[in-house]
Amino acid sequence: MTYGRKPLHAPDCDCSVCWSGREVANPAPSPSTRCAQCRPASARPIRTLQMGCVGGIWKPLRSEWKVEPAFICEKHTPPARPAKWWSVIYDSGKPTPYVPIHEPFELVG
Ligand SMILES: [Zn+2]
Ligand SMILES: [Zn+2]
Repeated sequence: MTYGRKPLHAPDCDCSVCWSGREVANPAPSPSTRCAQCRPASARPIRTLQMGCVGGIWKPLRSEWKVEPAFICEKHTPPARPAKWWSVIYDSGKPTPYVPIHEPFELVG
C-alpha cells in the first residue's frame, strides 16, 4: 500500500525532498541513541541486608537498592510538543459534572 504517496526516490537521489529528508534524519538521533551524558535509569544494590543459603550457595536475599533516575541530555531530550499535547489532555478543563446514576432496575415489591 502506498497511501497515495509517490514512490520512494532512489537512495542517492539529489532532489530537494530527499536532501531535506536526509538533513532531518542526520542530526535527529533516535530516542535509543545515547551519548556520554545520557544515562538510563539504573538500580544497583549498595548494601546487603540479608543473606541466605540457597542450594548451598550464599546469596543476598534482601538488599538496599540505590535507584538513579535516568538523565537525558538536552540534545537527546525529545521535543516538547508531545508533552504539551499530554498536558492538554490532562488539563481537560472543567471536571466532569456529576451525573446521578439511576438504578438500573427497580425492585418489584
Ligand atoms: Zn528525491
Ligand atoms: Zn545525549
